Amino acid sequence: MSAEPVDPAAPLLIRNAHVLALDGGNHDPGHEWPDADIVIENGVIAAVGPQAGDGWPRPFGRVIDARGQLAMPGLINAHFHSPGNLLKGTLDSLPLELFMLYEVPPLAQESDASRLAYVRTMLGALEMLRRGITTVHDDAFHVPIATPESVDAIMQAYADAGIRATVAIDQPNIVEYDKYPFLGDLLPAPIRRQMDSAPRQSTRELLDLYGHLISRWHGAEQGRLKAAVSCSAPQRVTQDYFAALSSLSKTHDLPFNIHILETKLQRVLGEEKFGKSLVRHVHDLGFLDDRMMVIHAIWIDDADIRLLAQAGCTVAHNPVCNLRLGSGVMPYYKLRAAGVPICLGSDEATSDDAINMWSVAKTGALLQTIANPEYLDWPTAPEMLAALTRGGARALRQSESLGQLKVGYAADIALLDLDTLPFTPYNDLKRQLVYCEDGSSVRTTIVAGRVVYEKDAVIGIDEKALRAEARDLADAGRAQFESAQAAARLLEPYYRAMYLKAAGRDVGFTRWVGG
Ligand SMILES: [Zn+2]
Repeated sequence: MSAEPVDPAAPLLIRNAHVLALDGGNHDPGHEWPDADIVIENGVIAAVGPQAGDGWPRPFGRVIDARGQLAMPGLINAHFHSPGNLLKGTLDSLPLELFMLYEVPPLAQESDASRLAYVRTMLGALEMLRRGITTVHDDAFHVPIATPESVDAIMQAYADAGIRATVAIDQPNIVEYDKYPFLGDLLPAPIRRQMDSAPRQSTRELLDLYGHLISRWHGAEQGRLKAAVSCSAPQRVTQDYFAALSSLSKTHDLPFNIHILETKLQRVLGEEKFGKSLVRHVHDLGFLDDRMMVIHAIWIDDADIRLLAQAGCTVAHNPVCNLRLGSGVMPYYKLRAAGVPICLGSDEATSDDAINMWSVAKTGALLQTIANPEYLDWPTAPEMLAALTRGGARALRQSESLGQLKVGYAADIALLDLDTLPFTPYNDLKRQLVYCEDGSSVRTTIVAGRVVYEKDAVIGIDEKALRAEARDLADAGRAQFESAQAAARLLEPYYRAMYLKAAGRDVGFTRWVGG
């Protein structure tokens, strides 16, 4: 079952690979050697370069002959929600506000069982490892409430899968209709009362859960698992909880997940509720800082971009999700010009149903061509590769240890077969990685120096049994899912009215092409 070396502490040698180190800058892929070695010891890269393994002072536990293969840093999925993993393909494309109504029905009562959370988390981890994605930043929500058991189930799945994971608890704690503009007025009183009584967790309860996440899991598995914080979005949490999360992020130096201005409706919400942009709102609260990973940032204006740049925020771009939900086009070139670091995410499996960072990078590069006629601003392939690796590391506050093939950095590596159709004929490695590769050339995935995927199998996991269990769990939940969908259909007219009202407002600019 396991292909681990006999002595797991013995160094691992990857020999004669084509190495793309991605250790340069945002536009410079850095070192590239057509024939080089990588020596891995204690989970980190001990040496990299031509003949780096020659005369190594200690015997190797294992040697991987990578002739004809590319070695590059594993990809980082900087924004993801694992609870969507069983829902791929369940919904038509819908605007976010209607999509969320069906995906997380606001009146859902049943709590996710731990086994369900474990299996669906594992399912997503397998999909990522098979495609050379070695790190995931999971903004995990829990329906209807989070518990220590539901948190543990997710973390245990990542521990067992072997992927590197940083996980937050994404738990809104205000009443459903208060998260939106206009909705409270549109909904009939009986529905509002039902929403009033839906379960919500107090700041104290949620902070206790964070205490559990941090004490049990932050730094677990030799640092492979870490905690992050999340408020989901500024309009979805109470102010005292938002403040507590901000200080928790500072105290432990944790990445702060925050969805801001994903949709035009959220731009309107900022005007209606706070009399200003949501970026300005978070800035004025004093919470905008360099730990914040601002997710989406589509309906931002030039003043917002200046605030994000001044605060040192990273922006997580999720182009496939943005297209699936009709959110509009993120002003990538404006953020880049302001010096805002950009990372890439698949977002959840309901909105990028494939969990495929290769197609995320390709889509991200292509999307800007319809947003901006200045072709000199269009993202290049090396830039997309940097966003997939060092950009994600920056968002995770691990720039000094992750995302590059460099001595002292984590040995998180994807080995790709270059004798495949995406690389035939071999013209330009970087462009073919972004525009041709879809993950199918990945032959071996290494995380923290451990081979976790090779020979078409994720090591230590009975994938066939897991897929069968996932199907059974999905089937068992089908009736409940259908009744939640029926309940959501009853609410849809009110959400649609809200959506149309916001869509029709002039906010001074548009992020919809042709709008
Ligand atoms: Zn998201």
